[in-house]
Amino acid sequence: MSGRLSGRRAIVTGAGSGIGRAATSKLRSEGAHVLTADLAGDVDLKIDVTALGANAAIVAEAAHRFGGIDIVVACAGITGMEPIEGHSDAFFERMMAVNVTAIFRLIRDAFPLLKASPHGRIILIGSVMSSFGEAGMTAYGASKHAVLGMTKSVAAEAGAFGITVNCIQPGAIDTPMTAPAFVARPEFRQRWIDKAALGRLGTPDDIADVIAFLASDDARFMSGHGLFVDGAATQHQ
Ligand code: NAD
Repeated sequence: MSGRLSGRRAIVTGAGSGIGRAATSKLRSEGAHVLTADLAGDVDLKIDVTALGANAAIVAEAAHRFGGIDIVVACAGITGMEPIEGHSDAFFERMMAVNVTAIFRLIRDAFPLLKASPHGRIILIGSVMSSFGEAGMTAYGASKHAVLGMTKSVAAEAGAFGITVNCIQPGAIDTPMTAPAFVARPEFRQRWIDKAALGRLGTPDDIADVIAFLASDDARFMSGHGLFVDGAATQHQ
C-alpha cells in the first residue's frame, strides 16, 4: 500500500484497545506493516509485556515476519488512582512494571534492529502527567515522568544511529482506560472537557495521527521531545 509509511515495519504494543488500536489502523492505512501485541484484543501476539523475555519475543516475531523493524510504538499501559496511603507495594510495582520497565526492555531489545533501519523511530506514550502532578496519581505520575526521562536519554544516544525518539503526552482521551472513571464520576469527565481550551475530550485518532506524523519522514529532525496532545488542557485556566 502506498503512503507516507509505505513498507515501514512497525511494532505496536497495547494494540488491542484505545490509542494502540487506533495507531495500528493509522499506520497500516499509511502503508506500514504492523506487528500488534497486547494482553487482549484482536492482535498478532497475546502477551504480557511485563513477562521476562516478552519484549524480546515481540521483537523477534517482527524481525521474523518483516525482516527488520523501523518503528516502535509503546502504547501498552495501565492507570490507577489511589490516595498515597492506599498505594500498596504491589500497586506501585505493577504500575512501574507495565508503564516503565516493559518500555525500557522493548527499546533495548529493538535497538539493534532500529540501528539497522535508515529511518528508526521510537514513539512512547507518556501523559500530561509526564510533566505535572495530580492528587492520587503518585504511581502513575512517577511512571509517566519516567517515560519522558527515558525519551530524552535514549534520544541523546540514538541520534548517532539516525533514530528519533519522542514521547506523546495525551490529555484526557476517550478510551476504555478512562471510561470507567468517566462513567463513575461524570464531574471528573466534565472537568477534563472544561480544562481543554478546545472544549472536548481527545479521541484515539487524535493521538494516532500524531503517532503517524512522528513515524514519518515529516518528523525526521524532531527528537527528544514530549509533545502535549491535550487540546491545550495544560495551558488553559
Ligand atoms: P487502553 O486501556 O484502551 O489500552 C491500553 C492497552 O494496554 C490495553 O489493550 C491493555 O490490554 C494493554 N496492556 C495493559 N497492560 C498490559 C500488559 N501487561 N501487557 C500487554 N498489554 C497490556 O488505554 P489507552 O487510553 O489507549 O492507553 C494507552 C496509553 O496511553 C497508556 O500508556 C496510557 O497511560 C496513555 N494515556 C492515556 C490517556 C487517556 O486519557 N486515555 C491519557 C494519557 C496517557
